[in-house]
Amino acid sequence: MIPSHTHSIDGFFSEYGGKYVAEVLRRPLDELEAAFKEAMQDKDFLDELEIIRRDYIGRETPLYFAPTATKLLDGAQIYIKLEGLANTGAHKINNAIGQCLLAKRMGKKRIIAETGAGQHGLATAAACAKLGLDCTVYMGEVDVRRQQPNVAAMELYGAKVQPVTSGSRTLKDAVNEAMRDWAAHPDTTHYVLGSALGPAPFPDIVREFQSVIGLEVKKQCESRGIHIAAMVACVGGGSNSIGFFAPFIHESSPRLIGVEAGGIGPGTGENACRMTGSAGRNGILQGYKSRFLLDDDGQALPTRSISAGLDYCGIGPQLAALGKSGRVEFTSALDSEALEAISFFAKHEGILFALESAHAGAEAIKLAPTLPKDQAIIINMSGRGDKDVFITSPIFRNKSWIEFLHAEIERLESHQDIHDAKSMAAN
Ligand SMILES: *Cc1c(COP(=O)(O)O)cnc(C)c1O
Repeated sequence: MIPSHTHSIDGFFSEYGGKYVAEVLRRPLDELEAAFKEAMQDKDFLDELEIIRRDYIGRETPLYFAPTATKLLDGAQIYIKLEGLANTGAHKINNAIGQCLLAKRMGKKRIIAETGAGQHGLATAAACAKLGLDCTVYMGEVDVRRQQPNVAAMELYGAKVQPVTSGSRTLKDAVNEAMRDWAAHPDTTHYVLGSALGPAPFPDIVREFQSVIGLEVKKQCESRGIHIAAMVACVGGGSNSIGFFAPFIHESSPRLIGVEAGGIGPGTGENACRMTGSAGRNGILQGYKSRFLLDDDGQALPTRSISAGLDYCGIGPQLAALGKSGRVEFTSALDSEALEAISFFAKHEGILFALESAHAGAEAIKLAPTLPKDQAIIINMSGRGDKDVFITSPIFRNKSWIEFLHAEIERLESHQDIHDAKSMAAN
């Protein structure tokens, strides 16, 4: 039997999904669903999206054959889908542009978004700047403090970054604030959710806008005669993976492999393994039913990963269903394995993976030697690693990095040229 779950039925992917929200959010969600269905049938909307994808995002992104990695691993051919070459550096822009264009079509002038590490906020801020929309990004106060480079970029794009001081002052609190704002201003405002999760219709909307990745891979492989054995993607909330897998879900091959953050080990609080770990269980959180890392009282457990984008207690409902049916296999990679994969592909291919995407790279390194040489593994490089320099440098070159930071502070505290540059920028 060919597995289903290609899209939701009444908001559900078998037992997962749904729309578990306060009454006030039902109408905006229903209106969004209707507007989305209409837009996806509208040639003008699809044409405009196509042009923005081509000229602004930089699609299609290359499917790169990695010759040295293939030779060294001595098994299946390694191909890398370079989503990290998309404008803003990752796949998140595919969804942000799609949803902002949809919001504009619905007559909304104001966009809100939640962000954890800042990648989704950054993509949304850029999309709003491009499309002339007002943008507010909710971000936990703790995250604002530790993710300053992304806060700076969002502000350059003209977005307002709103620090959230409730709860643990991180991602889940930012989601709650964004939901509250949306409930208070549904007529003027659209909430751009950042991954393929949350209440229906978001999982379907985000998958559709991200499926451009998988559709390109399919076309690229067909035209080049590449025989795909397996497709590998990292799984945070699940947007890059479901978009990458989408055109293949209803077929029985290739193997589709999702890689979770194994963090520092299998213990509680040491990873973000919702599908492969011992603490994963069914639950309802933030508007949807799925697999979560929960304690016995149904409260979210702390998670851990070196990659901020994979450090979340929930997974999109469609992936949870596909995991249960067996169509998508799940595995995990440790922080240390992700770091090794970053070094491997940087040194041997001149390609710098984001920490998140390196989890997929790590799985491909394990898998390739077990597969025949006339078949291919496609890795989705969801983002590039420039953004991670503040995390990878202290690990790979600690002493020089500390010296650099000290020198920077000294320079900033003593130097006049910053003030000069600022007064020049103001003029
Ligand atoms: C946010 C992010 C992820 C994780 O999110 P998904 O919704 O699971 O794709 C993965 N890679 C990069 C580069 C990211 O920025």
